[in-house]
Amino acid sequence: MGKRIVMVGAGLSGAVIGRMLAEAGHKITVIDSRDHVGGNCHTQRDEDTGVMVHVYGPHIFHTDDEEVWNYVNSFTTFMPYKNRVKSTVDGQVYSLPVNLHTINQFFGQALRPDEARDFIKSKAEDIAEPQNFEEQALAFVGSDLYKAFFKGYTEKQWGCSPTELPASILKRLPLRFNYDDNYFFHKFQGMPEDGYTPMIASILDHAGITVKLGEMFDPATAGDWDHVFWSGPLDGFFGYELGRLGYRTLDFKEFRYDGDYQGCAVMNYGNADVPYTRITEHKHFAPWESHEGSVLYEEYSRACEPHDIPYYPIRMVDEKAMLSDYVAKANETTGVTFVGRLGTYRYLDMDVTIREALDTGRAFLAAEEKGEALGAFLKSPV
Ligand SMILES: Cc1cc2nc3c(=O)[nH]c(=O)nc-3n(C[C@H](O)[C@H](O)[C@H](O)COP(=O)(O)OP(=O)(O)OC[C@H]3O[C@@H](n4cnc5c(N)ncnc54)[C@H](O)[C@@H]3O)c2cc1C
Repeated sequence: MGKRIVMVGAGLSGAVIGRMLAEAGHKITVIDSRDHVGGNCHTQRDEDTGVMVHVYGPHIFHTDDEEVWNYVNSFTTFMPYKNRVKSTVDGQVYSLPVNLHTINQFFGQALRPDEARDFIKSKAEDIAEPQNFEEQALAFVGSDLYKAFFKGYTEKQWGCSPTELPASILKRLPLRFNYDDNYFFHKFQGMPEDGYTPMIASILDHAGITVKLGEMFDPATAGDWDHVFWSGPLDGFFGYELGRLGYRTLDFKEFRYDGDYQGCAVMNYGNADVPYTRITEHKHFAPWESHEGSVLYEEYSRACEPHDIPYYPIRMVDEKAMLSDYVAKANETTGVTFVGRLGTYRYLDMDVTIREALDTGRAFLAAEEKGEALGAFLKSPV
């Protein structure tokens, strides 16, 4: 007989694990406090303009993981989409990520790839072991490009000096010596034709799954279930008793425009005196559609307060210490597995979220076969 299992959260984590366990014969209840499925990937068509709006910020699907790509394509049709980001700095528009076009335009040059490589090498500062974000950037691109494209943006995004941030953040930002302005390197990239919410609704569409929306799951009731998969905040499960793990939140100031406001989906603003980090124009995330009107978000980043939506985990020294304490508490809890971006306090792209959810579902079924219980984490978030 199937077990009674609850998924707290109807985002990708809850949906993918729930689907796998429902297919294995378990009785799955998915509970979300919001009035929609999809979690932070939720999309909704705007009534006035017909534009598909990425309600909690823009989401672009990109992955090298073939199983994950095949998985999402089995629930919806993906349309081709390449993320091409621009940045406005000191009244000029540049191409991101920093590529040969950016370098030539910024320095007023016409360099070929090898020349540009040497040129940037001559600009880069000689820092053998960068200790923070700023040093990493200076070692990569030198002071001019750092100030234009990284410094102000990063200060706005993280609300602190780049010298306080770990060097590892910048290891993810590529520098290109060709004219490739596709933001992501991944083999598979695209956008679900009808948005992410119908895709996630389709994953949840199984006779063994009951979805309850607008309902807050109380961790005190965890014992009523054979197993709980918790994709809510890790510290929230424990009533924040050791304090709150730090997050950045985002405010989206929506505005509308009759026509094409900026000609691209994402326009960053590199200068620190422009208060928002970027403007996103949602109709450009669906280039196969055509809409007269436009819906845009100005994106502002700030420290997350108790009633805000947590977006980016901060993961600095203090947070990591608190995280270790929460992980220790979670490891003492039985019958609960912490999953997803909030449950494991990590920034996870959608493809990684799905990969981990598939692995978690399989690990649950494998443990069950051996008569064992699944632990608190698939892998430690510390
Ligand atoms: C600003 C931003 C932009 C992003 N852009 C991209 C992108 O371009 N490409 C990409 O691949 N990834 C992107 N991501 C990552 C993507 O959002 C995550 O991979 C994905 O949302 C993780 O899904 P999840 O199910 O783990 O969490 P979530 O989507 O956060 O779902 C968790 C759900 O749990 C619910 N919940 C929490 N606590 C409770 C409770 N007590 N009771 C009931 N319900 C509860 C919440 O309401 C929420 O709906 C972005 C993330 C952010 C923050």
